[in-house]
Amino acid sequence: PEQFFQWYIERRVESYCLGESRRLEKFLDSSLDVLYGNILSAVASSTQRVKDRKDQKDKISLWLDEFCRELTELINLPRSDLKGLEHQEITDIEFLSKAMAEALPAMENELREEFAVADLSWFEMKPHTILAEQFLGCWEQCPFCGAVCTNTIWGHDGDHQVLFHRPRALTGGWWDKTDHLVIDICSNLVASKCKFEVADARWIRFKRYRDAGPPFSNWKILPDPSMQAYWKWFVSHFRTEIETWHGKKFQGRGEIPQAWQRITKEEALAELDK
Ligand SMILES: [Zn+2]
Ligand SMILES: [Zn+2]
Repeated sequence: PEQFFQWYIERRVESYCLGESRRLEKFLDSSLDVLYGNILSAVASSTQRVKDRKDQKDKISLWLDEFCRELTELINLPRSDLKGLEHQEITDIEFLSKAMAEALPAMENELREEFAVADLSWFEMKPHTILAEQFLGCWEQCPFCGAVCTNTIWGHDGDHQVLFHRPRALTGGWWDKTDHLVIDICSNLVASKCKFEVADARWIRFKRYRDAGPPFSNWKILPDPSMQAYWKWFVSHFRTEIETWHGKKFQGRGEIPQAWQRITKEEALAELDK
């Protein structure tokens, strides 16, 4: 489930940023607009400030100091990167600011052309990774049905838990000595007299599932006779797929009740929205 989740987020981010509306390009464009305006005004205000000063020495480095200060909040432009400019024999501030103002439009156009082919490989930290980390919860799966723990903290204290378990048939659970799938969910089973088999052919009562040791003992499964309509619909609707997948049948104790088969997709989904 974790890998699927990562994969899903990545596809969604891709289609969001690079899909028909090319949001990434638009975003870069609008960031550039803001930046461009700010650089122009930084050029103007630095020139003004340096001109106002009476001392004539080192005007260029003063100008560069001002220029970097103006932009600190906006971009990471280390003053040291501009050292080279100091050594070029520029003494006229007006000349420098004019040269800057003239060079900027060309740079802007060049960047815009690059934006047109921008993709997510540009990002040092991939957007989907950042997003997925926001959702980093517990990924433990119920050892009986495969439902994912709903705790939102990775490596949390206490038992794993999930509000709604699924029919065991989803992970291929079957009744002993038959090829009949188990339609009951974990919460039903822990209320029953049934047993399950663990390694070395030991049989454990569902009621005492913790006796089976980890991973079983790390789960808190409360007995509950009910089951979500969603899973009733799911096993009815995907019956053939599940049967083929596990090579077993919904028969005998695993017979899908008539009532389940009458549940519509809308009813099943409506329940999930609650
Ligand atoms: Zn379960
Ligand atoms: Zn958990």
